[in-house]
Amino acid sequence: MNVIELARQEMHVLGPLYKELHCKPETAFRELETAARLTQELRAVGFTVTTGIGKTGIIGVLENGPGPVLLIRTDMDALPIKEQTGVSYQSLETYTDEDGEVRPVMHACGHDIHMASFVGAARLLAGPLLYRWSGTLLMLGQPAEEILSGAKAMLRDLAFDAQTRPTKVAHIPKPDAAVAMHIGPAGYVGTVGYRIGKDSWRVSFYEVIAEGAEGHAGNSTTFIDPSIVLLKIVAGLDSADVMKINPAKIHFKKLTKRGEKAVALLGLKSLTDEQLSDLLQEIERCAAQTEQYYEGRVSVVLKPRTDIGADVLVNDAQLAGEVVEAFKFAFKDQVVLNQETGTPKGASEDFANFGSELGIPIFRWGLGVRHPDDTDGSAPPRVHTSTILPDYEGAVPIGASSFAVAAITILSKKRK
Ligand SMILES: [Zn+2]
Ligand SMILES: [Zn+2]
Repeated sequence: MNVIELARQEMHVLGPLYKELHCKPETAFRELETAARLTQELRAVGFTVTTGIGKTGIIGVLENGPGPVLLIRTDMDALPIKEQTGVSYQSLETYTDEDGEVRPVMHACGHDIHMASFVGAARLLAGPLLYRWSGTLLMLGQPAEEILSGAKAMLRDLAFDAQTRPTKVAHIPKPDAAVAMHIGPAGYVGTVGYRIGKDSWRVSFYEVIAEGAEGHAGNSTTFIDPSIVLLKIVAGLDSADVMKINPAKIHFKKLTKRGEKAVALLGLKSLTDEQLSDLLQEIERCAAQTEQYYEGRVSVVLKPRTDIGADVLVNDAQLAGEVVEAFKFAFKDQVVLNQETGTPKGASEDFANFGSELGIPIFRWGLGVRHPDDTDGSAPPRVHTSTILPDYEGAVPIGASSFAVAAITILSKKRK
């Protein structure tokens, strides 16, 4: 029996699980119930699971003889979007954000499809496909992908390169390779897309911190509001030439007050180190100009944020090549493989950091989720929209088997 058929046999578990995850979404670093559900599913098929890594992240370990260590990663978080699909399992959930506001929440980026596929792969690899591989499988549920913080938080807690590691994670071996998948909303079920090399953009976050003059707003004749100073800098950036390096650019995220200071959070998108240093220079130039405008009565400091961000995602050519060959062999005419070329679109993804921070090859592919009957000529669905409705019945068996095939391929070889 082929692997997609095997995965379809798991749909009596994966279908209800998908709907349950879909109608109970949780936003970044609040994925407690989601993580508990994944933990339960992994334990049920024999994984040893450690929870609370990077706040709400989990890792299941399954040892199956000698061989390499492979990490399969799913993201778990949802978005503050009000679902408008009208399906019976649509999300009616809300949550209270940091500012005390009640907001809707929805899986509008397919992380529920990733999770159901991930559980499907765990069931196959610990069950009917167990004899097909040798090595150690790490199945990782990552929080907070949408705010590009979860991978960094988990890697910090896992401390793979530390001399001594926290007891809680000491039994989790460092992976030799890592794979992940993301839905491609415009692709039909039965398609898998991939790119060799650079696959998504780096986002580096910087704080621009401004200190105004003469203390308090009550002192209105001499007071310089640091927020206005920052708005001037941001407006300067908006009209700067560097914004035309398309699509490398600076995103203004938010402005906050910290005591007497104001802080602007900027996200800098780049694919190359040269682009990043161009963007940084531009910020410094606008900051210096603004300081001059205020005749030195304000000070502006630029500070990197190391707790958030994503590196350039680079799909390793050898790893991706081997996995794609295995997909072709395993899926035959059931799946069409589309290799994409050229500059990646503007998205970012913190799965990249498992490769860059651990120095291991990684590969992420795209899973088509559009329903085959969705052919009325309307615009293809997009992620982060209220009406996106993946065809989970068609997509999850392919997602699960793509993870399983990648695992069998990587864990059938001696990479060490
Ligand atoms: Zn997203
Ligand atoms: Zn996503």
